Amino acid sequence: MMTLPLVFRADRRQFIVVGGGAVATRKIHTLVTAGCHPLVISPQVSPEVQSLADAGVITLSLKRVDLEQSYPFGSFVVLATDDKAVNDEQAARAQQQGALICRADNQDNNDFIFPAVVDRSPLLISVSSRGAAPALTRHIKQRLEAFLPQQYGRLANEVESLRAQVKIAVAASKRAAFWRQWMQSQAPDLILAKQAAKADEITQALLAGEHPSRGEVFLVGAGPGDPDLLTFRALRLIQSADVVFYDRLVNPAIMEFLSPDTERFYVGKARSDHSLPQDGINQLLVQEAKKGKRVLRLKGGDPFIFGRGGEEIEELAAAGVPFQVVPGITAASGCSAYAGIPLTHRDHAQSVRFVTGHLKDGTCDLPWAELIHPSQTLVIYMGLAGLPHICQQLIAHNMAATTPIALVEKGTLPDQKVHIATLETMPNYIETHDIQAPTLTIVGSVVALHETLKWR
Ligand code: SAH
Repeated sequence: MMTLPLVFRADRRQFIVVGGGAVATRKIHTLVTAGCHPLVISPQVSPEVQSLADAGVITLSLKRVDLEQSYPFGSFVVLATDDKAVNDEQAARAQQQGALICRADNQDNNDFIFPAVVDRSPLLISVSSRGAAPALTRHIKQRLEAFLPQQYGRLANEVESLRAQVKIAVAASKRAAFWRQWMQSQAPDLILAKQAAKADEITQALLAGEHPSRGEVFLVGAGPGDPDLLTFRALRLIQSADVVFYDRLVNPAIMEFLSPDTERFYVGKARSDHSLPQDGINQLLVQEAKKGKRVLRLKGGDPFIFGRGGEEIEELAAAGVPFQVVPGITAASGCSAYAGIPLTHRDHAQSVRFVTGHLKDGTCDLPWAELIHPSQTLVIYMGLAGLPHICQQLIAHNMAATTPIALVEKGTLPDQKVHIATLETMPNYIETHDIQAPTLTIVGSVVALHETLKWR
């Protein structure tokens, strides 16, 4: 069987679905999503189909198809009853009358098939295998879903509106080259990032025959460790970077997603090993972007939570370098989820507070009184070295010495460990156990839920 993918206007065709069970429901759903108004013929239908009929988006004929059924010439007929004999007989009738048929129970005689569709309207990507390997087409569709930003439709609309301008400004023989350049420029990314004015600057420069620099910095949160916790956007930008600056908290497994020719710079950030001072990092980001590179600043967790992301982009903004910020799952979310410790819970905590326990000169000047709030969970980043001091201060400021406290070591990674103690016993616990960074501390009665909710 040879096939030719064509695209039909949904509102110009008559679609008829015979059947109302699970298979029919899926096809009806596909048709309605595409803007068709199908006629559905079946003595019984699923609740979903009934509700589409109630909403007026399909026409329902609650009857059994019979040998009198007529199918308009050129209509599309989907045969999805669970009775093979009925499908056979109606397929023959429909084809006799000049309709096109598709049935799920026997592909051999089909006039058309339903491809798997990635919908970024007006952009549609259809994947099909002549009906031979639906599992494979679904798999490819899912991969495309993950890689094409949801806003791709917006990009298509933008291209559509730009076409008129390009037609006037660029000679026909140079248009293909213009579009190639435009697609490779920063403009599409800027449109996706809702920076229309900047995108337009680049477009105008390209229309005028200039070659604007594509230098840009992506400040990307890499999440707490497990590579599965990256966002789609983070993954796309990681894969498209020319150069990356990363620190200790970024899991090496995530670095595997970089293209082999991406230049890599380790910029440290272990507590006692600042391989490169913050100022140096800021300057490097500016320098590399100004060379026209796509610069990836990859940071553990979320770049705006104890990540100094703000300082880095302040410098970029001052230097006029374009940048984007991609949020990541912060250690508090990742560690609490993977440790089975909900940060809020109606019976335990109505608020949660993130603080840093980073010690300056051996002391830790936290607003202790504010932290002793009942029904509040306390999450302490960077607090391992100062934890005995923190426990002692919390008790001194009247938090119950029996308050449970969890230390999540290497949260979300395969060797994650969750250590549970109380404010009183934790200092001794740390002394007697070998605990490795990074660790996150969670204080509050929610910690008691770990015993029943732990799932890893
Ligand atoms: N921007 C990061 C935090 C950087 S501060 C974020 O949003 O998560 C570094 C601290 O984060 C570490 O000292 C530790 O307290 C915490 N942390 C980061 N990743 C962690 C992990 N996988 N397990 C436990 N703690 C982690």
